[in-house]
This record gives sequence, structure tokens and C-alpha cells, in this order.
Amino acid sequence: MKHEYDFLVVGAGLFEVTIAYREKQHGKKCLVIDKRSHLGGNVYCEDAEGITVHKYGPHIFHTHDEKVWNFVNRFVSFNRFTLNTIANYKGKLYNLPFNMYTFYQMWGVTQPEEARRIIESQRREAVMENPDFISKVVLDKGLDSGTAFEILSIDIADIDVGKNIGAGLQIDQAEADLKIAQAKAEERRAMAVAREQEMKALAQEMKAKVIEAEANVPLAMSEAFRSGNLGVMDYYRMKNIEADTQMRESIAKPADGSKKKPDKIG
Ligand SMILES: Cc1cc2nc3c(=O)[nH]c(=O)nc-3n(C[C@H](O)[C@H](O)[C@H](O)COP(=O)(O)OP(=O)(O)OC[C@H]3O[C@@H](n4cnc5c(N)ncnc54)[C@H](O)[C@@H]3O)c2cc1C
Repeated sequence: MKHEYDFLVVGAGLFEVTIAYREKQHGKKCLVIDKRSHLGGNVYCEDAEGITVHKYGPHIFHTHDEKVWNFVNRFVSFNRFTLNTIANYKGKLYNLPFNMYTFYQMWGVTQPEEARRIIESQRREAVMENPDFISKVVLDKGLDSGTAFEILSIDIADIDVGKNIGAGLQIDQAEADLKIAQAKAEERRAMAVAREQEMKALAQEMKAKVIEAEANVPLAMSEAFRSGNLGVMDYYRMKNIEADTQMRESIAKPADGSKKKPDKIG
């Protein structure tokens, strides 16, 4: 069976005719068919009393690629075109695309932050007026109902950023737990320091009481002398015991002043 064509190209729009043209350059034979009665697909233009009219709507050619630009200029010439769009909203004209001047025209704001706040509040209102939107976003993002609950209780305006707020909350929670644990550990450390200080103060108090009690001993002895409860011989016997005790203690003390255990005496 003889093949008359190498390719059958369905459609005669820009894409298909480009393919057919390139294949022909490579020596291939193409059959181009289209259900419409003209070439060009959607960019097709008609002549209406000397004016070129885009039959299927206006087309603007964009490219940053010099190769493409040179290629298309081999077949057609282009009209210079400047796009100026203005929106008519409720009888007032606004610049498009949106920029700070559009926001100034709408709301009289001059700072991006002010515009952002108004947009946020309008989004919030829109969500509140259409509660179904929340479930739709949650389902679209594949978040579970637990996460949806977290989202609602945090910030409705956040839901369209699409981040997993549930995971974010868990991280926040973990960080908060860590901070609480650190704070508790710090509290325990501070309590231990305070307790140590209390014990030191208590020891000082006890020492003061002992010193006070010792200071009363000579007074008590002179009182005992006066009242006849302590005789001169009793006094000398006590002094002897004291001297004996001191002697034993000084013998027991190590010569180098260290605190090592003394050898047994007597
Ligand atoms: C109103 C409008 C404005 C646009 N503005 C721009 C613009 O400014 N800039 C831009 O880059 N693009 C624009 N586009 C898109 C533009 O149309 C495409 O980029 C370009 O035309 C696509 O070329 P194409 O060959 O892929 O498809 P098309 O131009 O759609 O051509 C496809 C052709 O295939 C034919 N066809 C489809 N199926 C069959 C079949 N089964 N049997 C036989 N024939 C078939 C169709 O009839 C059609 O002629 C616009 C589109 C529209 C509708």
C-alpha cells in the first residue's frame, strides 16, 4: 500500500501549521485538515470593511525568545500594541493590573501594609459569609477534621495559604512544652538555692543561740556561788576537769593541723 503522506495533522491553528511547516522542511509530506473553513485556528482574522477583526477574540503575541520572534516574523508582520486596561466598577474607573495606585483609588490608602489589612479583613468577611468555603478548602488541601478545627480556632484568614497548620501547631506545642519544662527546671533550681540559703541562715541562728547560752554560764556560776549552791572546791574540781579535757584534745590533734583521725589515747 502506497503512503501519500507522512503525517496527518489535525487542526490548522498556530501549533499544527508550525509542525507541518517544520516537517515539510525535513522532506516530509503532511496533510493538514481542520473542521473550520479557514486556517489559523483561534487567531484567525476577518476583514470587516477594511478593518482586521479577530473572529474569536483579540490575540496578543508575547515572547522573550528571539528565535521564536525571528521565526514568526518570516511569515507575518505585527502591529505595535500597548495594553491599557481600566476597570469600571460601580461607575468608577480603576487602573489595572492592580497596583498601589488602584488601592489608593479604591480605599485611599498609600501603604502596602494598609492595603494588606483591608484585603485580609475582606477575605475574613467572605469566609464568614460562606462557611462552606472552609470545608471546601480543608478537603482540597487534604487536611483532616482535627486540623480543620485547629485552623478555625486559630485564624480563618490563614486557610488559603495552604500550609499544614495542624503540623505547625504541633511544632508550636512542642516548643511551648520545652519552654514549660525549662521554666519548671529553673523553678526547681531556684527553690534548691533558696532552701540552701534558708539552711545557712538557720545554722547561723543556732550558732547564735549556742553563743548566747555559753555567755550565760559565768553568770549562772556566780549566781550559784552567791546562793551557796557552788563551793570553792567544786569550782577547782571543775577547772581541773576543763584543763584535763583541753590537754587530751591538744594531744589528740594531728601536728600538721590536718583533719585525719587521731590515734586512740588512754
Ligand atoms: C479569545 C481568545 C483570546 C486569546 N488570546 C491569546 C493571546 O493574547 N495570546 C496568546 O498567546 N494566546 C491567546 N489565546 C490562545 C490562542 O488561541 C492560542 O495560544 C493559539 O491560538 C493556540 O493555537 P493552537 O494551534 O494550539 O490551537 P487553536 O488555535 O485552537 O487551533 C486548533 C485548530 O484545530 C481545529 N480542530 C480541533 N479539533 C479538531 C478535530 N477533531 N478535527 C478537525 N479540526 C480540529 C480547530 O478548529 C482549530 O482551528 C487566546 C484564545 C482565545 C479563545
